[in-house]
Amino acid sequence: MPTCLVTGGAGFLGSHLCEELLRRGNRVICVDNLETGSLANIEHLRDPTFVHLNLDIIEPYFVEDDVDFVYHLASPASPIDYLRLPLHTLKVGSHGTHHTVGLAKHKRARFLLASTSEVYGDPQVHPQPESYWGHVNPIGPRGVYDEAKRYAEALTMAYHRQQGVDTAIVRIFNTYGPRMRPHDGRAIPTFLRQALQDRPLTVFGDGSQTRSFCYVDDLVRGLILLAESGYHAPVNIGNPKEFTLLELANEVIEVTGSRSEIVFEALPRDDPQVRQPDISLAREVLGWEPEIDLREGLRRTIEASGIEELVGAGP
Ligand code: NAD
Repeated sequence: MPTCLVTGGAGFLGSHLCEELLRRGNRVICVDNLETGSLANIEHLRDPTFVHLNLDIIEPYFVEDDVDFVYHLASPASPIDYLRLPLHTLKVGSHGTHHTVGLAKHKRARFLLASTSEVYGDPQVHPQPESYWGHVNPIGPRGVYDEAKRYAEALTMAYHRQQGVDTAIVRIFNTYGPRMRPHDGRAIPTFLRQALQDRPLTVFGDGSQTRSFCYVDDLVRGLILLAESGYHAPVNIGNPKEFTLLELANEVIEVTGSRSEIVFEALPRDDPQVRQPDISLAREVLGWEPEIDLREGLRRTIEASGIEELVGAGP
C-alpha cells in the first residue's frame, strides 16, 4: 500500500485529494497547521490509514514512516488569505518548500509541487501554455503569492537537476467545489453565498475579465495522474472553457434560481484581465482533460455543501 504525504491536506483541495487517495487504497499522512484549513474538512476521513499531523512546515519537520509520494499543497491560496499573511505566504513557498522537498529527497519519494496559474501574472499571451514565462509584478500586493510560487518552482527544478529528486510541478488554474469557504473572497463561493441570500452579486470592474473554472474532482484526478507519471516539467491543469465574470455571475443566478441583481465594484490591484489554460500538454502526457462543465459543477457544489454551509456565518 503506497503512502502519500499531503501538505495542506486539511484545506479545500488537499482534503479532496486525501479523500481520493484513501479511496484508491493509499495510506495518507496529512500535514497541516490549520492556518487556512480546518478539521471539519477532514473529520469524515476516520480511517486507520489516515493520520493528521498538526505541523507548521515553515519549521523543519520529519515523519517516521516511509513515504512514496509527497503532494505539496500547503500555502495560503485565496487573495484574502495571502494579503492578510504576506510574510507567512513567502515563508511557506520558500522555507516550507525547502523542508518538504528535502523530506521527499530523504524518503526517495516522488514530489509534486502545487503551483498556480498566478505564475503567469497578468498574461500577455492567451491562452497560457507552460512555455510562457509570465508577466508578474514582484512588488505589488499579489507579488507575495506569485513570487513565492515562482521561487518554489525554481527550487523544485534545482532539487531535481542538482540532487536527482523525482519532482513534478502542477500549475493549477481556478478550481471550485464543496468545502470552499463562503468568505474566502474567491468568485464562485462569493457569488453562491450572495445568490443564495438573494443579495446583489458583486462583480469587480465591468465584469469583462475572464477566468476558467475547474471542478475539484477533475483537478484531483489530474494531480494524481501527474504524480504517477514520470513527468518533471510544469503541467497546466484547469478547465480551458473561458467565462467572463459577468457570465459566471449570471450562471450562478440561473443555477440557484436567485432573485439577486448584479452590482459592480472597483477592480482590485493587479487583477489579471484574462486567465485560460492551454491544456495540450496535460492531454498529451497524461491523457487528462476535464469532464465536468460549469453548470454541472455548480449543481454538485450546492448539492454536496448544502445551503447553510455555502451561506456561512457573517454578512
Ligand atoms: P486552502 O487555503 O484551502 O489550503 C491550504 C492549506 O495549507 C490549508 O489547510 C492551510 O492550513 C495549510 N497551510 C498553510 N500554511 C501552512 C503551514 N505553514 N504549515 C502547514 N500547513 C499550512 O487552499 P487551496 O485552495 O486548497 O489551495 C491548495 C494549494 O493549491 C495551494 O498551494 C494553492 O496555491 C494551490 N492552488 C489552488 C487553486 C484553487 O483554485 N483553489 C488555484 C491555484 C493553485
